[in-house]
Amino acid sequence: MNVQSRVPVRRPPVALWRVPVARVEPVTPRMTRVTVAGAELAGFPGAGTDQNVMLYFYPDDVTLPDPLTLESARAMWSRARPQTRTYTVRRHDPAAGEVDFDFVLHGAHGLASAWAQRVRPGDPLIFVGPSPAYRPAPEVHSYLLAGDETALPAIAAILRVLPASARARVLVEVADAAEEQPLPSPAATEITWLHRDGLPAGGNDLLDRAVRGADLPAETEAWVAGERTAVLAVRRHLLDERGFARHRVRPTTYWRHGQSGN
Ligand SMILES: Cc1cc2nc3c(=O)[nH]c(=O)nc-3n(C[C@H](O)[C@H](O)[C@H](O)COP(=O)(O)OP(=O)(O)OC[C@H]3O[C@@H](n4cnc5c(N)ncnc54)[C@H](O)[C@@H]3O)c2cc1C
Repeated sequence: MNVQSRVPVRRPPVALWRVPVARVEPVTPRMTRVTVAGAELAGFPGAGTDQNVMLYFYPDDVTLPDPLTLESARAMWSRARPQTRTYTVRRHDPAAGEVDFDFVLHGAHGLASAWAQRVRPGDPLIFVGPSPAYRPAPEVHSYLLAGDETALPAIAAILRVLPASARARVLVEVADAAEEQPLPSPAATEITWLHRDGLPAGGNDLLDRAVRGADLPAETEAWVAGERTAVLAVRRHLLDERGFARHRVRPTTYWRHGQSGN
């Protein structure tokens, strides 16, 4: 489920990037920032706000071709196909040659989450992308940005580029108060943190209830991402009960409760 923007999006060239990890730092108790850096990132394009990439995870015993490119990786798929996970580019600094990814640490059972818990500087990260991403439309002045903690990197990236004339109502579901983080923006923001405080991630109605209670001006554009059930509930409410125009509702499933991968 992914609604295309009406704002023309420049499709960046998709390539495979193999970049060493430079830093691993905690953002909050359940969110880790992995910074990759190096000359390998030369030419990594800026594709918009919430641009994302597909991380490639190979079994440890696989010998990868040199050079590892999209083509050489695909050529060996019959013998070694990577497991993939989608992550948002939290920050791209072309001058420093750095990209940050923020990983929600949701438990050792997740391939990517477990990798982020054990990764060390010097380890390689392989990813393919970036994808074209959401670009706020110039004629929109009111936004709803709603999601769980997996959407925080994208919400942060979107907020960073909103104009000062825009207003954004931001609703973010997180585990608890320790997971809140600064979300700077030139726009006028009203941010509400929805604490699960012991409720399970996925399968709760915190986001749905918060959106239902939100005062949203006419012509608000809604960007919603997170666990599938929550995203669908919010989408239904906005379209069926609030009468939002379809093109003003931009929902994306980021993960599915009880299912691996995206
Ligand atoms: C476009 C896009 C951008 C994304 N950006 C980010 C990002 O920047 N940061 C980020 O952390 N995630 C992001 N995600 C979500 C992330 O890809 C998924 O959460 C993914 O399933 C994590 O992979 P994993 O290997 O850790 O767990 P998986 O192996 O996929 O799943 C293992 C189990 O964990 C559960 N699970 C998965 N994610 C969560 C979670 N967050 N909380 C609780 N249980 C979970 C699954 O339901 C499954 O039961 C993004 C997804 C998309 C589609």
